[in-house]
Amino acid sequence: MISLKNVYKYYIAKRSVVVGLRDVSLDLSIGEFVVITGESGSGKSTLLNVISGLDGYEEGSMLIGGEETAHYTPDAWETYRADNIGFIFQNYNIIDSYTVYQNIILALELQGYDEKKRHERTLELIEMVGLSHRIHQRAAKLSGGEKQRAVIARAIAKDCPVIVADEPTGNLDSVSGEETLKLLHAISKHRLIVLVTHHFADAAPYATRHIRMKDGEIVEDVPLKDAGEKDGLIKKDRHPIPLKTLVGAGARNVFATPGRFLFQLILQMLVIGVFIFIYAFIMYSEDILVGEGVADNDSSHQIRLVRRDEEALDPVLFENDPIIRSVGIYEPSFEAYRAFGRVGKSVSSENYPLGEIRMDDAVVLNEEDLTSGTLPGEHEVVMSDLAMELHDLSIGDQLLMFGTFYEYISTYGETFTISGSTIRGNNMSVYFNSSLFESKAIALDGLLNLARKQHFYYHYNDRDQLVRSSFSGIEYLFDPTLEEGQVIIPSRVLPDPGEIQIVDYEFNFGPYFDNRIKFPVSIDDVIVTDTPNEVIIMSTSFQNEMIDLFFGEDYEPMSLVLNVHDLTDGKILTRMIDQDEYRVFYHVFTATTRERILTASEFESLAYSIVFLVGLALYTVVGVVVRNISLARKKDFAIYRSIGASRAYLSRQVVFEQVLIGVIAFGFTVVALWILSHYLYTLSLAMRYLFFYQYVILFVISVFLSVFVARMYNRKVFGFSVIKALDRDGEARL
Ligand code: ADP
Ligand code: MG
Repeated sequence: MISLKNVYKYYIAKRSVVVGLRDVSLDLSIGEFVVITGESGSGKSTLLNVISGLDGYEEGSMLIGGEETAHYTPDAWETYRADNIGFIFQNYNIIDSYTVYQNIILALELQGYDEKKRHERTLELIEMVGLSHRIHQRAAKLSGGEKQRAVIARAIAKDCPVIVADEPTGNLDSVSGEETLKLLHAISKHRLIVLVTHHFADAAPYATRHIRMKDGEIVEDVPLKDAGEKDGLIKKDRHPIPLKTLVGAGARNVFATPGRFLFQLILQMLVIGVFIFIYAFIMYSEDILVGEGVADNDSSHQIRLVRRDEEALDPVLFENDPIIRSVGIYEPSFEAYRAFGRVGKSVSSENYPLGEIRMDDAVVLNEEDLTSGTLPGEHEVVMSDLAMELHDLSIGDQLLMFGTFYEYISTYGETFTISGSTIRGNNMSVYFNSSLFESKAIALDGLLNLARKQHFYYHYNDRDQLVRSSFSGIEYLFDPTLEEGQVIIPSRVLPDPGEIQIVDYEFNFGPYFDNRIKFPVSIDDVIVTDTPNEVIIMSTSFQNEMIDLFFGEDYEPMSLVLNVHDLTDGKILTRMIDQDEYRVFYHVFTATTRERILTASEFESLAYSIVFLVGLALYTVVGVVVRNISLARKKDFAIYRSIGASRAYLSRQVVFEQVLIGVIAFGFTVVALWILSHYLYTLSLAMRYLFFYQYVILFVISVFLSVFVARMYNRKVFGFSVIKALDRDGEARL
């Protein structure tokens, strides 16, 4: 039961005041079928809006079920509308993108009907208004009469005691109009129907009361029939709408408008793509920004490891990691060759040494990394393009590799043929076949190159005491033609035989081995020769002894070389390795390289901040676009609210929709970038910078931004009252 007492309503428009209602007093009861007529502008719609709680009034009072409403808050009005009022407007307030079924089930969902009942009741209602054959038709494609019938079905679905209908037949042909009125009559039992029409005659057969308005006043109020019952306004127990319903409705909204969905999806994908790419790029350029260059004797694809507890390492632990191309067990082998010269050129010419080299395992190369030729076989090398150009080399050239820079040892080098060239590396990079690094002899060569050898000879001084003096034999070669135990020493490293008589020798491998590795050699086994080389040539028995000593059967590596494809993988790997357990030597992380401007974690925080700010800017753009393309939805939202959705529910739903689109877009973008990275090498480098946890962080940021966008959008769209959004003519006004 609704009563108005001396109600006045004014519209204040452009410095003039228009009277909407003038001293209206009225009692309405359940069971009545009230027909309101009057000229256009006489206040009919205004009266409906006041009755249904869509709009306020300035003077007088309104009672609902005997209760004064002056103290009602907007929420209380929302509840009143949600529980009691079913709206039918001239322009069919129906959600165009939904099917008939969806439009009707929506009202049941918002009331918290359980799932099974919802479906059955919807079918029942559709049957009742005669739309069974149209059940899955989108509302946009229905005729006016059909739309109005669907709206009536939805109003009944809502199970509300009051139905206000503002010129529902205004846009219908007479047959549809008549059917609509019949339907209204059919549902009028136990309800209050307030119908505004221009044609009283059409509604006359059903009307229990006729009110005529003029200039905002009721000029005639005639009872026509007995209205029956008197009471029945509802105070429903409000159930919170379950999450499942919200999710279902949100998903339905997203997919109900495929065009809009696709547009938003593509837009968001672009944003997220830019977002991920900026992030990946920042991470990729880390070493540029961090201010570290490649140290002289360092390689971007070799990571050296030792255990912090100085125990031996287990190479098997690393062998199955896909990022690791190979594990070098004999770490010193990468020091075996340090310089190269040309085969067949004059030894003392500028061809020796031709250049310094740094050894790499060709396992780090792919076919695509080659600019010409093939990957190296045994006794072949691939050189960097830079080295090829610098030294004017071509494929097929033969080179000597040796472990020192002294030109006079060139005759003892190992010969290799250039099989190809690569864009990778610097002007010292030479890539050898992997098998080279498995050779213990090569490992020994490397080890000896690392050691600062100190060798001694024993002699008597002028007081006849046996003393030890050092000589400067530098490089070692092992010659299988020498007799076991024999050593050839160049005379130039020894003192003049006229002055000092040597009586014995000791070969000591110096502080590198704590002076523990030493071989006494009898003077009888030593041949002193006149040669320009400062190289000590030993029989292979020494070599075998030393190999047994350093790389014997029970050899356990104290350090490993992990070969990775490139700098990117190197950085990824160094992060994956537990640095509490291992010391990692890599140019990005070693302390010997130039000082870092930022630590890695500082850098990462900076990257996240940049991404966040760029993301915020991009999402603001998305927000503006989303708001604009979705203004059409304002009418839908007003409809939602007119059939019982609260503002809070709707904003949650919009947030959910936005997040849903965001999540889908994120997934698609990741997949798209992943596919693209197979074709774009730079992209693949950048993408490899993203760890799973970083995707998670980016994902969380993008969800956060989706929520932000949705909320910004909510404020704009729900800032309107229902009546403004869904105004009396059903048009969405801005
Ligand atoms: P009816 O529905 O009978 O055609 P209305 O109730 O829509 O009449 O309007 C009553 C009077 O109030 C008219 O003079 C109309 O111009 C005025 N009016 C209605 N709504 C507004 C509004 N939002 N702002 C200003 N004036 C309004
Ligand atoms: Mg009107």
